[in-house]
Amino acid sequence: MNKAEVPAMPTSKGPEKTMRPILPLIAQFPSVYHQGPGTLAQLAEVLGVLKVDRPLVLAGPSAWASVGSTLSGMKGTHHVPFTGECTEEEIARVNRAISENQCQAVVGLGGGKVIDTARAAAFLSGGLPFISAPTIASTDAPTSATTVIYKKDGTFSHYLRSRNPAAVLVDTEIIARAPVRYLIAGMGDALSTWFEAESCKLSGAANVCNGSATLAALAIARLCYDTILVDGLVAIAACKAQVVTPALERVVEANTLLSGIGFESGGLASAHAVHNGLTSIPSCHHALHGEKVAFGVLVGLHLTGAASSLIEEVTLFCNKVGLPVCLADLGCTQPLASELRKAAEIACTPGDSIHNESVAVNPDKVLAAMITADHLGSEFPRKFK
Ligand SMILES: [Zn+2]
Repeated sequence: MNKAEVPAMPTSKGPEKTMRPILPLIAQFPSVYHQGPGTLAQLAEVLGVLKVDRPLVLAGPSAWASVGSTLSGMKGTHHVPFTGECTEEEIARVNRAISENQCQAVVGLGGGKVIDTARAAAFLSGGLPFISAPTIASTDAPTSATTVIYKKDGTFSHYLRSRNPAAVLVDTEIIARAPVRYLIAGMGDALSTWFEAESCKLSGAANVCNGSATLAALAIARLCYDTILVDGLVAIAACKAQVVTPALERVVEANTLLSGIGFESGGLASAHAVHNGLTSIPSCHHALHGEKVAFGVLVGLHLTGAASSLIEEVTLFCNKVGLPVCLADLGCTQPLASELRKAAEIACTPGDSIHNESVAVNPDKVLAAMITADHLGSEFPRKFK
């Protein structure tokens, strides 16, 4: 056997880290951001500035039922109901409606998947302006240029990069009336922002805009973490009482604007990759994006050898506000070894953001971190509902 035929030695360490190229500083933002009680009423004015008189409004059924009357009277508006999943088929259906009705802009009214579908449809219809109008603060989708596309069975498919919204309208009166679980899930998504941005900075990995994080992006990502830690519990109380308070405004801004800019211009790492892996476990399908991401944060901390005091701080925060701290909280009460192994393998898919961590990772290490996070979290008195 000559040297070329010698098989590579198996390694438990995974691929070695290669030198990363030095990247320019790049940051991306939405053009305009409005937040406050009654903000949705400014949509007509925003469309006027954009010189749009035939907008398509893609809306989730409950969003349309509760606030559609505000928009249905707007001249030239074409309403399309969202069918429930951001798939390539759903995006193509919205594209056809845009074309048949000669719409000039797309408004996404509802949760993260409605907004993602509307963003992708606007982009794939020749780059029409896109306006996001979230009715819940459950993800940081409203400000970004990234769409998460799923397969019909609800499993993660791929990301589509397009454009940041021309305008974001966050009506906190509507968000305060939404179920509190969404606000809490939004904190789960926001929780990942600082840790993933910091990982990218440490490793020199690219942010989502394929650049290096600016000081602004890192400061925004850190502010996002600090805000939910300080104001999370008080904001939950306001949302349960269905009232808008300064603490609720701050957490909505953290979940939406700070987290949105923070992840896009700071970068993604293990938390979102673990989320992608968890989408393959059928019993986790009812968990929201931010709930899976929150558990992904805990897994990431174990994976990268974070200080025990930090792991404790984050686990305590999750438990305090009612974010998942173990697999049972995600609906996975009796995880099969094969399901966890598959989730860990998907999280380590080549090219996924887990490889932005400064340590080399492989499915064995991710599996060990998942099991450890689950064990630690299971020991806490249950707060998750
Ligand atoms: Zn996210």
